[in-house]
Amino acid sequence: MGAIHPAVSLAIDGGIAVVSINSPPVNALSQHVRQGILDGVRRAVADAQVVAIVLTCDGKTFVAGADITEFGKPLAAPSLQDVQAAIEGSARPVIAAIHGTALGGGLELALCCHYRICVPSARLGLPEVNLGLIPGAGGTQRLPRLVGVEQALEMTTSGKHIDARSAHAAGLIDELVPEDGLRAGAIAFARKLVGDGEPHRRVRDLDDKVVAARGKPEIFAAFRKANAKKFRGLVAPEAGIQAIEAAVARPFDEGLAVERELFTELLAGAQSAALRYVFFAERSVWKIPDVPDDTPTIPIKQVGIVGAGTMGGGIAMNFANLGIPVTIVETTQDALDRGLGVVRKNYERSTRSGKLTMADVDRRMALFTGTLALEQLADCDLVIEAIFENLEVKQDVFARLDKLVKPGAILATNTSALDINEIAAGIARPEAVIGLHFFSPANVMRLLEVVRARHTSKTAIATSLRLAKQIGKIAALVGVCPGFVGNRILYARSQQANAMLLEGAMPWEIDQVIFDFGLPMGPFAMSDLAGLDLGWIAEQSNSSTIREVLCEHGRRGQKTHAGFYDYDEQRAPRPSPVTATIIRDFAARAGVAQRTLTAQEILERCVYAQINEGAKILEDKIAIRASDIDIVWIHGYGWPAYRGGPMYYGDSVGLAHVVARLEHYGPRMGKGFTISPLLQQLAKDGQRFQDLT
Ligand code: NAD
Repeated sequence: MGAIHPAVSLAIDGGIAVVSINSPPVNALSQHVRQGILDGVRRAVADAQVVAIVLTCDGKTFVAGADITEFGKPLAAPSLQDVQAAIEGSARPVIAAIHGTALGGGLELALCCHYRICVPSARLGLPEVNLGLIPGAGGTQRLPRLVGVEQALEMTTSGKHIDARSAHAAGLIDELVPEDGLRAGAIAFARKLVGDGEPHRRVRDLDDKVVAARGKPEIFAAFRKANAKKFRGLVAPEAGIQAIEAAVARPFDEGLAVERELFTELLAGAQSAALRYVFFAERSVWKIPDVPDDTPTIPIKQVGIVGAGTMGGGIAMNFANLGIPVTIVETTQDALDRGLGVVRKNYERSTRSGKLTMADVDRRMALFTGTLALEQLADCDLVIEAIFENLEVKQDVFARLDKLVKPGAILATNTSALDINEIAAGIARPEAVIGLHFFSPANVMRLLEVVRARHTSKTAIATSLRLAKQIGKIAALVGVCPGFVGNRILYARSQQANAMLLEGAMPWEIDQVIFDFGLPMGPFAMSDLAGLDLGWIAEQSNSSTIREVLCEHGRRGQKTHAGFYDYDEQRAPRPSPVTATIIRDFAARAGVAQRTLTAQEILERCVYAQINEGAKILEDKIAIRASDIDIVWIHGYGWPAYRGGPMYYGDSVGLAHVVARLEHYGPRMGKGFTISPLLQQLAKDGQRFQDLT
């Protein structure tokens, strides 16, 4: 026998049937794969010579999950459950032989087999929660029966993979076999099983581990409490917990029904739709219409950073983490020592959590060269400038870099708001200049805005995107405009938030609305964290904004224990009566009558102003796709992924509604405020940002 189906083959080796799935790239459970497995298992069972069946995969991995493109469509038969029933009910024992990753539906398939073996490099997990779902094919019922309730809760609600050894230790895997001996190991395991007369062991019949948790609601209560912050606003983790509660409290088939009901509800719900959108948005962000995948890139073997301040040090860590040597330039030895000291401290902090050993820290620090001489950057393949936000100073540094850095190198700036075309203007190789806008802390935040200036070469873009992937960032390619994509939209929100302060909403009221919507903090808490005196010059301060007045009162944010909020020693914020008085006095002087604002007005003005600005960004061709804007706000500003990003959110409430509400607020939106023509057009045509191609 051989191929019985395009994606599945069957071979019989001395009474052991081997059903192999071969559906590149990841053996996802598409309809033809499900059909193939079903046929393979049925034929094997029908063959009188067959004493056991091995289920395995060709290619780089075991089944890595469902076929996500089938979500939301009517599922063609056979279902995964049909396949599972055939395996679990097989008259011959079925052994899953796993390499690569067994994820989601892939792991659920393996859980229906009677035994599981894998190679040491295999990884196993239930990542459905990342798509706003729970496992829908028995994962929440079978997993706790093998690994116990605590670990099942952790795996189901975090979506994290576990490695083969942990899976073996937990009871999920019966045997580890050598890396290059999976098939032989599986056949040997099957022979031994049959030889020993081992009984058929169905996971659904095991119950010692779930019985151990029965009548102990405190296990679930403690888990909910410990993870409350992480699960805030999300529906899927709670559904996962409830499904596992059912696994503990009810017979298997009833638990399965509970899981199915919860899964079906989640699949039809808004959060999963948004998270699936984000899943695809994160993949499309890399596709640049005029920069094809085969665009030449340059190897980056040596990186230079100019400026070892807040950003420079964090940016440098990304490269050292990859083993790439980094040369950092500063203006004084003091500043250099301070900058490198912060880097070392950051690494040392990772030793406390066990992520790094002290030897790792030393190895990474050995990749850093600190210097006061810009000339030391001559051999770098990439130089990133992260000095003060001042155009003339940056232009001066670029003019010097132009003269001394080797030809072909990329010259990047981390500017937040300056015009990169102007930074590139005076130099002989403007095609080498690009913006690499990291977010603070640069060693932690996942977003990287890659800013394409007028003359930036495709090689510089392709190389930057490749590098972004290597350092674990998610990059959005954006164009030059004040604030690029992220900060430009932030500014649109700040204008509304500041206006509403004058109109009578307190900072903590506005922050609460934004926090409740799902962001980690509101605009005023964020300002306090960054420092209210960013860009503030005491000598020129003339009480022209509330922020200036706060700075004049020495209220410069968290670092002075006072800003919009008062802070205690642990930096916990409290509404401040001083700030309240400052705001009221300011409004009185400005002649603005204060009133009570509803949470609805606060939310709509903040968020709809963001959507409107996003539409203008698309009109101006600063972003390629609406979904790229969503990615920027999810990964750079903590927009809740379960709401899909601001543009997706606009689509989901309806763009006609957004326009109607902006018109309703009218003059309150501010003097220069205009509604984007693109937004108006889409609203009129009943279209969505997602419909734009
Ligand atoms: P910072 O003040 O913490 O650091 C700047 C460092 O550059 C200082 O240590 C200074 O000594 C050094 N420096 C100044 N001129 C230099 C020169 N000619 N050669 C070498 N070193 C020089 O500033 P930062 O917050 O790290 O910001 C740096 C850049 O990154 C700015 O353009 C800023 O707009 C941008 N940025 C900042 C953030 C943020 O949150 N802080 C976020 C994104 C981008």
